Amino acid sequence: MVVVMDINSTVEQIEEVNKRLDKMGFKTQLIRGVKRIVIGAVGDRQAIDSLNLEQMPGVERIVPIMKPYKLVSREAREESSVIKVRDINIGGGNVVVMTGPCAVESREQLLTAARCVKKAGGHILRGGAFKPRTSPYSFQGLEEKGLKLLKEASLETGLPTVTEVIDEQSLELSIDYVDILQIGARNMQNFRLLKAAGQTNKPILLKRGLSATIEEWLMSAEYIMSGGNEKVILCERGIRTFETYTRNTLDLSAVPLVKRLSHLPVIVDPSHATGDRQLVLPMSMAAIAAGADGLIVEMHPVPGKALCDGAQSLTPEGLEELMKKLDKIIPAVGCWMPPQKLGEVVNG
Ligand code: PEP
Ligand code: MN
Repeated sequence: MVVVMDINSTVEQIEEVNKRLDKMGFKTQLIRGVKRIVIGAVGDRQAIDSLNLEQMPGVERIVPIMKPYKLVSREAREESSVIKVRDINIGGGNVVVMTGPCAVESREQLLTAARCVKKAGGHILRGGAFKPRTSPYSFQGLEEKGLKLLKEASLETGLPTVTEVIDEQSLELSIDYVDILQIGARNMQNFRLLKAAGQTNKPILLKRGLSATIEEWLMSAEYIMSGGNEKVILCERGIRTFETYTRNTLDLSAVPLVKRLSHLPVIVDPSHATGDRQLVLPMSMAAIAAGADGLIVEMHPVPGKALCDGAQSLTPEGLEELMKKLDKIIPAVGCWMPPQKLGEVVNG
């Protein structure tokens, strides 16, 4: 359930409600929105009536949440969550572009990619240091060396960074190097990892699993939020279907649907969804039109030489073309991009 507090309720009143819920074994979490303050409470539904919460000072109303995900649900928070990554807002009309190579391969490759991202007007630099690969013989990532390169690229360009973590160890290692931790499709139901992510205060980019239903995906987000980390960004990256001409099938209907069910921002990954560079631009535009709060797109300075996912990686010119198209599409759907500081590459 959600206890909606009066926007003018005092700290003491909130404390009192929390105490009463605590005593009855409810797990609580305070969510302070712009328009209202709510206390998310998960516990025995039968016990709600005996709590007499409606009578307590400062309480506006009680909203039972029938969905299995509580804190993630739109019922818990009416207004869309905006997640701040340095000076960039994600969600609530702010559309961001995260882009860069699938994997960090070398200093030269990453720094070149980062400069291309900056030049094109991308907002956040992506790059995998730990790669969950289908084959144990494929490139597994540079690990800590890759994280150091991400940090260096960020210092040079001023771009925040996102990297994938694949277990608790890589999460621990990555946390001080990057701005956003990505939990990939293959780990969407790695519950220990989700719990560990919930203990951090870093934004978490949670991708939808290859065969995950929307409810399972939202339940995974609930794991992170119930651990105390509210900064979850959801990412639709295509699901596995019978189709073989695309790598996955981009479930664009998930975007407006999840935005109705949840207050969390939803971004789209057209690269892994299609596996085909030529489909990235049209599907990016479609994602924005469907209401996505951003994109994560693979771009490699020389896709033909990429150690990972070259076929779906845009060229630097392809990224520039995409950014130009987005400049037109985003305002047309009533949204905006963070102010771009084009060409401000330090030491570039
Ligand atoms: C990636 O972002 O490089 C990646 C492995 O994505 P996904 O988990 O969506 O397959
Ligand atoms: Mn990839």
